[in-house]
Amino acid sequence: MPELPEVEVVRRGLERWVAHRTVADAEVLHPRAVRRHIAGPDDFAHRLKGHRVGTPSRRGKYLWLPLEDTDQAVLAHLGMSGQLLVQPHETPAEKHLRVRVRFTDALGTELRFVDQRTFGGLSLHETTPDGLPDVIAHIARDPLDPLFDDEAFHLAMRRKRTTVKRALLDQSLISGVGNIYADEALWRARLHYERPTATLTRPRTTELLGHVRDVMNAALAVGGTSFDSLYVNVNGESGYFDRSLDAYGREGLPCRRCATPMRRRPWMNRSSYFCPKCQRPPRITP
Ligand SMILES: [Zn+2]
Repeated sequence: MPELPEVEVVRRGLERWVAHRTVADAEVLHPRAVRRHIAGPDDFAHRLKGHRVGTPSRRGKYLWLPLEDTDQAVLAHLGMSGQLLVQPHETPAEKHLRVRVRFTDALGTELRFVDQRTFGGLSLHETTPDGLPDVIAHIARDPLDPLFDDEAFHLAMRRKRTTVKRALLDQSLISGVGNIYADEALWRARLHYERPTATLTRPRTTELLGHVRDVMNAALAVGGTSFDSLYVNVNGESGYFDRSLDAYGREGLPCRRCATPMRRRPWMNRSSYFCPKCQRPPRITP
């Protein structure tokens, strides 16, 4: 599942290769890929035709292409295996090519949505006055957003009376932090994932957010993390940040700070990786 840094890498690729180009036609090769567009594949293709793509935008893990001079945007759901590729026209169709978008210019490339498992897809939505697709208007800003409010996050998180990892994954408080980066940031902050948010002081929250941003920026700097060979960014290159993870996926390996073997615990149908010495469990279970 791509996380914020991977999605931002894709967004940057789209900004470079797709922004400000006008759609000549869109071809849906598998109706499942546009199933979230209720009016169907033909309507989807028809509505894209003739429109110029604006600057690709992102909030958390959500990525969309605004259509200029309309109140609509194409929202991309990458799901587990979705890829947005910019390919020369002559490149043979990928085995799992689902949607193809051609442009009116002579640049010789097209946008392709490829998805082996078809959990992802593209859909067209009305946009809010802020330019967000209406279906994601309730999603909180992400920590890399310059308008993210640290103080408001701290207060809202404490008010929720939840635990710290649940708070980090709560899209109404903060978006774009997935399981991997939550474990990484908690390890850096020496916080156990079950720590009640009510016990976090302002400086502790500030420190945690700093680690969340550091982890994400480090991943961005190397082009995103890849745990799934299916994940490829817009230029067809996979990330390699996974080699520098400190917590996620390191069960039984020595903590990089204190050498204690790292642990893994089942957590909300996923796993939490932590150092039992650096990240002490809370004394009172919430
Ligand atoms: Zn440790």
